[in-house]
Amino acid sequence: MKILMIGAHQDDNEFQGGGLAHRLTKMGHEVRFLSMCNGCGGHHIMGPKETSKRRAGESAAVAKLLGIRYDVWDIDDCTLVADLETRRKLIRYIREFAPDLVISHRPNDYHADHRAAGQLVQDASYILTIRNECPDAPAMHKMPVIMYYEDKFTNPPFRPDVVISVDDEIETKLQIANLNVSQVYEWLAYEDDEVVPEGEAERFEWLKGMNITGDTTDEEVVAATRGYSVRFAKTAARFREELIQRYGEERGKKVRYAEGYEVCEYGGAMTGEVKEVLESL
Ligand SMILES: [Zn+2]
Repeated sequence: MKILMIGAHQDDNEFQGGGLAHRLTKMGHEVRFLSMCNGCGGHHIMGPKETSKRRAGESAAVAKLLGIRYDVWDIDDCTLVADLETRRKLIRYIREFAPDLVISHRPNDYHADHRAAGQLVQDASYILTIRNECPDAPAMHKMPVIMYYEDKFTNPPFRPDVVISVDDEIETKLQIANLNVSQVYEWLAYEDDEVVPEGEAERFEWLKGMNITGDTTDEEVVAATRGYSVRFAKTAARFREELIQRYGEERGKKVRYAEGYEVCEYGGAMTGEVKEVLESL
C-alpha cells in the first residue's frame, strides 16, 4: 500500500500521524510525507531563509529515522492558498505517486495554511481521475481513500472514524519531536513562554512532560497541560470509547497513546486493502 501524508507544515504529519506512519512503514508499506510549506515562518530570531534551511535539515532527519521519502514544497509559510495553480501542482504530485490512502487536515482549522491544505486535497480528490485535466500527468483510475488528522475544532466537530493505539510507536514519535529542534525547543517554546532546560537529555525529558504509566488515569492526562507525551496521550483519553470498541474492554482501557482519523467522504470508498490494513492496526 502507498500512503501519502500531506501537512501544511513540517511537524503536522509528524505529530498527528507519526505513529501510523511508523507502524505502516514497519509493516512494509510505502509512506511518503509532503509538507506544502517550506517552514520559513517558524522562528522568532532567525529570518525566513535561515529558518526554512534549518527546518529542511530537521525534516531530512525525520525522513531518515522513519525510512521514508519526505518532500517539502517551496511555498512560504502563511501564504498557502487553495488556488488553481496549487491545485494542479497537487493533482500532478498525487497522480505521480498514486497513493492508496491520503491523509491531510480538515478544511476547518485555526491556521490558514491548514485550511488551504485541506481544501486543496478536497479540490484535487475527484479531479485525480479526470484525464482531460492536467493531461500531462496520467489520471488515476480510482480516487485514493482520504482521511483527516485529528483536531479540536467543534463546528463541525471532528468525527473519529479510525482510532488506533500507537503505544508501540510512541518512542519513535517522541524522537521525531526531538529532531524538530528549531520548532519544539525554540519557536514553540518561545510562543508558549517556556524556558527550555540546558543539555540534550534534560531538554528531551522536558519535551516529554509528565511520565505516563499504566496507572495514569485519563483524568490526570486531561488535566495535564504540557509536554508531548501528554499531548499524544490526550488522544487516547479523548477517544477511550472508540479504543474500547476497537480493541475490546481490557486492551482498549490500557491504551496510553493513540491517533485519530476522520474519513473524508469525497475520497475513494473505504474497501479492499486500505480497509483491511486499517482494521488490522
Ligand atoms: Zn501546521
